[in-house]
Amino acid sequence: MNVADTEVVFSILGKHGYERTDEMSQADVILVNTCSVRDNAEQRIYGRLEQFNTHRKARPGVLVGVLGCMAERLKESLLESGKVDIVAGPDAYRSLPLMLQNAAPGMPQINVLLSREETYAEIVPVRLDTNGVSAFISIMRGCNNVCSYCVVPYTRGAERSRDFHTIVREACDCAQKGYKEVTLLGQNVDSYSFQDCNFARLLAMVAEACPGVRVRFSTSNPQDISDEVLQVMASHANICHQIHLPVQSGSDRMLEKMRRRYTREWYLQRVDAIRRYMPDCAISTDVIAGFCSETEEDHALTLSLFEQVRFDSSFMFQYSERPGTLAARKYPDDVSPAVKTRRLEEIIALQNKLSLESNRADMGKTFEVLVEGPSKRNPSDLCGRTGTGKMCVWPDTGHKAGDFVQVEVVDCTQATLLCKLV
Ligand code: SAH
Ligand code: SF4
Repeated sequence: MNVADTEVVFSILGKHGYERTDEMSQADVILVNTCSVRDNAEQRIYGRLEQFNTHRKARPGVLVGVLGCMAERLKESLLESGKVDIVAGPDAYRSLPLMLQNAAPGMPQINVLLSREETYAEIVPVRLDTNGVSAFISIMRGCNNVCSYCVVPYTRGAERSRDFHTIVREACDCAQKGYKEVTLLGQNVDSYSFQDCNFARLLAMVAEACPGVRVRFSTSNPQDISDEVLQVMASHANICHQIHLPVQSGSDRMLEKMRRRYTREWYLQRVDAIRRYMPDCAISTDVIAGFCSETEEDHALTLSLFEQVRFDSSFMFQYSERPGTLAARKYPDDVSPAVKTRRLEEIIALQNKLSLESNRADMGKTFEVLVEGPSKRNPSDLCGRTGTGKMCVWPDTGHKAGDFVQVEVVDCTQATLLCKLV
């Protein structure tokens, strides 16, 4: 989401004569887009601000700005350090050129107004991706859920959906520019709603408008993912069979406390539905270890849910209390750091085993892979992903980024399918 937002910022600034540089020492303006979802994300930004301040001191006139969720959460207090000239929340990017114009030493500028309408709908993002294969398309902003642990609704504001005409236009524009994959982004894509268009219809429209382009999306909320969406996925060859379905916990007691509006039973039924429509669909998840009052039984239920679903991959986190959230106000953060770490490690160990098993089950199968370019680990190999999102590598066959090739899986690690060209 932040990559997509940064592309919007580049577009807005580009229209006002700013150019991008990869050399910090060349920059007149240094902006950092931020995440507040866990404390360690914020701590990393403080480190970066120190680094930027060295440049700011070395070259008088350099402006440093904090964008995004930290700007929204911390507001004026970010200015106290004296290291920041611009503070702009996620809905304030159109005002950046003016803020940059007005900012000067001792004259910091701040705009953290949240909007009920802003979707940057007509702005054509300037893509950061350099291999020109895969593009993000933001379809909605904000979130109307109030999961008790989560800061997103406070930093990104209320949910709003972007006009579908502009989404389809952006997807077609990507296709025309040679992109081969688009990922539709929202905190809760299944609640997309613009006029009479829901997410299932939007997905079908994008897939039909760009037949040569793979379509992905993220994130689905288990409470909202509909059979209609699954039917659209199953009936369009270019929609990838991969669903990111964050579960957060396998214990109903925790789910209720987290204010997730589904039960373990409901989640498992949704997984069954996905596999009924698409037996080959990859399913990934997010999980939080050590949420308030979590017991060993709750944790065991998370592990057993992982065993039951057999996720292909997961993003796994320790609970990090976020100031101002319902959980921070209501529930003590009472699972000790050592216990959180141990539980997280147990989940990671289990997921590693499941990922390896999932990859082993693909051995001998043939997949269509979108070539991304040389493999990072071994430049004489090529790499690319299957529709199910798995990374494949194979000896260089002279193909270019953006080509579709058929590969057969001959071996695997927990993270990668080792292949040969068919
Ligand atoms: N909208 C998405 C999630 C966005 S945040 C959804 O509802 O599924 C991405 C992930 O960060 C969440 O799924 C959750 O697992 C994790 N997360 C959010 N707040 C957290 C917190 N306070 N501590 C630890 N992890 C958190
Ligand atoms: Fe946060 Fe819940 Fe909204 Fe996801 S759905 S962004 S976890 S409040």
